[in-house]
Amino acid sequence: MSGILFDKIIFGPVNSRRLGKSLGINLLPENLKVCSMNCIYCECGWGKYIENFSSKLLPYKDITPVLRERFQQLHQNQVQIDSITYSGNGEPTMHPHFAKINKVIIQLRDIYFPKTIITCLSNSTQFYKRTIMPALKSIDNPLMKLDAGTQATFYLINKPFQKLSLDKVCENLRYFDGELSIQTLFLRGKLNNGKIVDNTSEEEVDAWLKRIKDINPRKVILYSIDRETPAKYLEKIDENTLNKIALQVRSLGIQAEVY
Ligand code: SF4
Repeated sequence: MSGILFDKIIFGPVNSRRLGKSLGINLLPENLKVCSMNCIYCECGWGKYIENFSSKLLPYKDITPVLRERFQQLHQNQVQIDSITYSGNGEPTMHPHFAKINKVIIQLRDIYFPKTIITCLSNSTQFYKRTIMPALKSIDNPLMKLDAGTQATFYLINKPFQKLSLDKVCENLRYFDGELSIQTLFLRGKLNNGKIVDNTSEEEVDAWLKRIKDINPRKVILYSIDRETPAKYLEKIDENTLNKIALQVRSLGIQAEVY
């Protein structure tokens, strides 16, 4: 599977089930996935560990004019946008100037689309950079990934390229003081190395729920595989199972939505 990769810094708006009309912002190189993880279900396909990708990025000084021009056009054409969404070819917060660009995006949103929210789909791995947490806290909708409750399943599903403690990830998510949403993809299946992966088992869901309770997000979004995945033999989880897990989330007093 080659995966879906974007060739523009700004794309759409596209129809998103979760976000409505979503204007995508891809800060990562064109046609190249850059991510700190290698999730077995990633729509961008399998990735490689890429240490230095700055030379493949549009220079920072050139980004603002591109964004401004597109925002102006969309405004002039009275295009409806519900969410300006960092997504695209990997993990947006890996861009070396994410925080600075985010300030520009907020300014442009305030000028041209003051009623539109800003969303960031993030894998929750870049908090060791001091600018990332404040930048994510400054937007309306940080939508942070948490696919597992145990370290073993975290490694099986998300395959971070460097050692990463799930406890540490969750500790960082608690610093949002509840002002975030969590997104979790549920799946089960067999991996190429013969290992079974399943984050819907009772044990895994219990461990995940404990972490959700600790983080106390305003909302949890539960979903399953929707497109072809790089790992073969993964099973789409039925809506009934997702709804049962959502009920358990709601019993914690936390809003849950199934897609
Ligand atoms: S974190 Fe997102 S971009 Fe990165 S590998 Fe996982 S699904 Fe793909």
